[in-house]
Amino acid sequence: MSDVLPDGVERRQFDGTERLATRGEPVYGEPIDGEWRAWNPNRSKLGAMFDLEMDTGLEGGETVLYLGAASGTTVSHVADFAGPTYAVEFAPRPARDLLEAAETRPRLFPLLKDARKPETYAHVVESDVDVIVQDVATRGQARVALENAQFLADDGRLLLAVKARSEDVTRDPAAVFEDVQAALEDGYEILETQRLEAYHTDHLGIVARPR
Ligand code: SAM
Repeated sequence: MSDVLPDGVERRQFDGTERLATRGEPVYGEPIDGEWRAWNPNRSKLGAMFDLEMDTGLEGGETVLYLGAASGTTVSHVADFAGPTYAVEFAPRPARDLLEAAETRPRLFPLLKDARKPETYAHVVESDVDVIVQDVATRGQARVALENAQFLADDGRLLLAVKARSEDVTRDPAAVFEDVQAALEDGYEILETQRLEAYHTDHLGIVARPR
């Protein structure tokens, strides 16, 4: 399999172990080596998608809308290699840490907003973003992706992490993933899926493009 990493993301040695890394100030106590910081796929669904060599289409420098930024673990890595990165998070507590991660990242724009109400940030986020990364871990994950498709360029990509147990704790995750994919088909063509099991229990990684 070819290694499909964007410019600005590398596999580098940290204490004798090869790990994904980006260049930027550390955010969550991750190992550093000079200006490089290790990207822990166990704490990041997008990191897991890269480690599993999913073809995200990312090349580096893209405009990104990130939904479910939490305290900035993953979106800080994204802002290290991407262009303007709009980070939506609706919980005030993690958003405080997100603001801190943005202090050293001039391309990272935290938005304390609800991803189910895209009209509340439509005036801030430029239209035609290249990539939507979504990791909201709440019920209605397909709906959030569909409601935000309005921001995505025609040739853009959705990189979605679906948490089965956020949709329904009692159902078989495989059945939940099927339903989410069927719902997504309303607005997206699915290009690739992979279970992220090795890093994140009951999660599916999806790469899709708008229809
Ligand atoms: N993506 C983060 C990372 O890798 O660093 C972890 C995200 S965590 C699994 C899910 C986050 O999505 C939580 O911080 C939660 O508050 C946020 N979230 C859930 N529903 C949301 C919504 N409707 N709008 C904005 N944020 C939401």
